Amino acid sequence: MKCYDCDQNGRSDTTPIGVCSRCNLVICPEHGRVTQALVHLVRGTGKSTSDLPARRAVCLTCHAAENVG
Ligand SMILES: [Zn+2]
Ligand SMILES: [Zn+2]
Repeated sequence: MKCYDCDQNGRSDTTPIGVCSRCNLVICPEHGRVTQALVHLVRGTGKSTSDLPARRAVCLTCHAAENVG
């Protein structure tokens, strides 16, 4: 597996670190971001969020698309 963006740029010298959780393309540290994600829990009567942040990897393209505005 190769980082998708590196592959597009004809590069093969990077090490993939994960997979974008949105588009499922392989990402390297340069073309991806690891962000904190809130975990929604279903507890008893309602939903709440976990006190501990989870982790989520996204590629730069999806990261930018999610942060428009
Ligand atoms: Zn890359
Ligand atoms: Zn993506």
